[in-house]
Amino acid sequence: MTTETWLALVAGALLGAGFLAFTRWRAERKRAQANTLVPHRTREVLAALHSGAILVRRDRRAAFSNTPASALGVTRPDGALHPGVADLAEIAWAADAEREDDIVVSRGVLGVDSVVHVRVTPLSDDLALAVANDDTERHAAELTRREFAVNVSHELKTPVGALSLLAETIEDNPDDSEMVRSFAKKIRKESRRLTKLIQEIIEISRLQGGESVVDHHELSLAGVIEEVCEGAEMHAESKHVNLVADIRTRPLVMGDHDLLVMAVRNLVDNAISYSDDSANVTVSLETEAGAAVLKVIDAGIGIERADQDRIFERFYRVDAARSRSTGGTGLGLSIVKHVVLQHSGTVDVWSKPGVGSTFTIRLTAHQEEQ
Ligand code: ADP
Repeated sequence: MTTETWLALVAGALLGAGFLAFTRWRAERKRAQANTLVPHRTREVLAALHSGAILVRRDRRAAFSNTPASALGVTRPDGALHPGVADLAEIAWAADAEREDDIVVSRGVLGVDSVVHVRVTPLSDDLALAVANDDTERHAAELTRREFAVNVSHELKTPVGALSLLAETIEDNPDDSEMVRSFAKKIRKESRRLTKLIQEIIEISRLQGGESVVDHHELSLAGVIEEVCEGAEMHAESKHVNLVADIRTRPLVMGDHDLLVMAVRNLVDNAISYSDDSANVTVSLETEAGAAVLKVIDAGIGIERADQDRIFERFYRVDAARSRSTGGTGLGLSIVKHVVLQHSGTVDVWSKPGVGSTFTIRLTAHQEEQ
């Protein structure tokens, strides 16, 4: 190796070491500056908070942030800030007043969005305090509530519009007694549907209200089935459907008699409505490994796989015209799901188009009836 090469190597090594030392010194100085900006006590207080807390600097970086702030995705460990927080801080500084906003944060490799509520308070010309809280659930609930309100008004409009049209037609043809009679019958049918719809809207709002509406008593599930089958006799007869109760055991469950009757009635009504004339509908009950297993089995039209995932949603109908003609509201299965959830049970469906459907409710069985 020549002397020039040696010299070049030594100079390179010295330069590298110098650059390394300089970057270390700069990082150290930055840390020291940040430390003097945020006293130790303040850091301790902010670190102990459940909310995300960030001290925002003028250069759109964090002088300090606690662990919840990183977990919310509004800061990174290297001090980088979510642009939404930095923008809000600039607005707060410009107004010299507290400012708040909801920021959408995309987290993880799946990029699932969450909504974070951020409030920024300017502390000085150089520092502002940002407090962040996860608001995703409240936002989702608000969206669901708004969607529900839109759906309800849409669903109510149809029967109300039909009633108004029918009444108008009668008004225009008062002397046509046959038509008046036929339209009066239709008005009665629409009113019945409207009453059912309003009752179910009230019921689903109550069930989804958040708090438990279950009046817990020990009750006989076989008794529930017997009551439902008795009540559904006329509906079954009108379609010549053979409704059978196949009660193999008589388990007692803890729950609300009226709510469970409503849920099972909805399943049995559907089984009859979506069956062809003269078909069989069976309601069976047995006990399996401590669970009371109630099945409503029909050999009706069945449900496509894609629809099976959606039928428990409010107002979802596979065939809206058929549902309306059978007096359906699209709320029946949603009520079933919520009643069962309130009883800490499960409900699922097996179905095949053209073969039939089986809806199964599982509840914890306490003991057998004596
Ligand atoms: P609906 O009042 O329209 O019956 P539900 O919530 O009870 O509303 O049911 C939702 C949809 O699921 C129905 O519109 C229907 O398309 C389908 N469905 C429910 N039960 C059955 C069944 N036993 N057989 C076939 N389809 C059914």
